[in-house]
Amino acid sequence: MKQSHLFTKTRREAPKDEVSKNAQLLIRAGFIHKEMAGVYSFLPLGLRTLNKIVGIIREEINVIGGEEVYLASLQDKKNWVPTNRWDDAVVDNWFKTHLKNGTELGLGFTHEEPLTAIMKDHIRSFRDLPRAVYQFQTKFRNEERAKSGIMRAREFLMKDLYSFNVDQKVHINFYEQAKQAYVKIFERIGLGAKTYITFASGGSFAKYSHEFQTLTEAGEDTIYIHEGKKIAVNKEVLNDEVLKDLGISRSDLVEKKASEVGNIFSLGTKFSDALGLVFKDVDGINKPVIMGCYGIGPGRVMGTIAEVYSDEKGLIWPESVAPFIVHLIALSNKKAVEGVEDQVKKVADEIYAKFIKRGVEILYDDRDATAGEKFSDSDLIGIPTRYVVSEKTIANGEVEMKDRKTGKVEMVKISDFK
Ligand code: ATP
Ligand code: MG
Repeated sequence: MKQSHLFTKTRREAPKDEVSKNAQLLIRAGFIHKEMAGVYSFLPLGLRTLNKIVGIIREEINVIGGEEVYLASLQDKKNWVPTNRWDDAVVDNWFKTHLKNGTELGLGFTHEEPLTAIMKDHIRSFRDLPRAVYQFQTKFRNEERAKSGIMRAREFLMKDLYSFNVDQKVHINFYEQAKQAYVKIFERIGLGAKTYITFASGGSFAKYSHEFQTLTEAGEDTIYIHEGKKIAVNKEVLNDEVLKDLGISRSDLVEKKASEVGNIFSLGTKFSDALGLVFKDVDGINKPVIMGCYGIGPGRVMGTIAEVYSDEKGLIWPESVAPFIVHLIALSNKKAVEGVEDQVKKVADEIYAKFIKRGVEILYDDRDATAGEKFSDSDLIGIPTRYVVSEKTIANGEVEMKDRKTGKVEMVKISDFK
């Protein structure tokens, strides 16, 4: 893509009311637009990165048998009354609205209830199980504090997967598969080394749930990490019993701030009992389906990456989620003698065409801007590899290659571009 075609502009300052580093950087680089506190729109660069994260998650969830759906946001009260979650005193983050005739509706903050209701139409016997159904869908939550940028939004994309199994044993088997899929996802996204499987409260059907917590000062959670075992315990459940269960001692744990990028949860029969999702087992007896839920917030993941991989100059994307892999910059020299400027453009155009032909995702800064502007924009946007074509480099038949992460610079022969 040519940068002259990109409608977004970078900016020196983020909005004054934006306190989080991730949103400040992402707004300044033109990845997102702040509509209001906790509400952000995704612009071309931001959408590319978000879609990369979504793509990685989708691939790994498909590997474990996920079937993708897209459920409605508007929620019918009838599915939520049986689980007692329609009540604002029970769920304090509902956004609700009503039809012209006065009927109350909710904007989905999660989808256990409507999906359980859907599955009632499709699951009859043990032959219809197991199932794993997931979506990427916008959730609405009236979050009390929205000071963490896109890490805690009031409207945000969630990957939510739900599993349906005949008994606890097969459920646990799938739960472990999902856990491993999550490990792979965060490795591929570039957060593997900083992400800990964290023991958290399990609700009424399991002793623990598992959170995927990425270490960052910007995180809202406090966890206690065990470096040796690469596991952690959420502060909320840290006690002698947990330490004993995990075979670790308090003195081996280090307190850290972290961001919950994903979590997996055993739901037991909570939703199937309430909504009547049963199946006829081999013995002919109706039994409630055993469920689990598995969430990841691609926006929170993106915000966490921005927090973890950035410096004073801007963002530093891991290659797997970068909006583009290569940033090609042509430096025209206004004061140069006639013809020289065209030469820089000619070489840059040719290199651009070669990358495009090879299918490399490349952003080509072909704008009429100063070298200073181009470099600072490039540092801010944070594409992994940058090539600079200037009058000086082409004089030696070369272009300059710079690694955004290490800052390492190398000269590459123009004839090496194939
Ligand atoms: P938290 O404890 O941070 O409030 P949660 O436990 O309520 O989150 P879930 O309901 O399980 O989160 O949501 C699944 C995933 O969705 C989370 O792991 C997180 O990645 C993401 N998520 C949750 N709330 C938000 C939010 N307000 N903004 C962005 N992403 C979110
Ligand atoms: Mg949580």
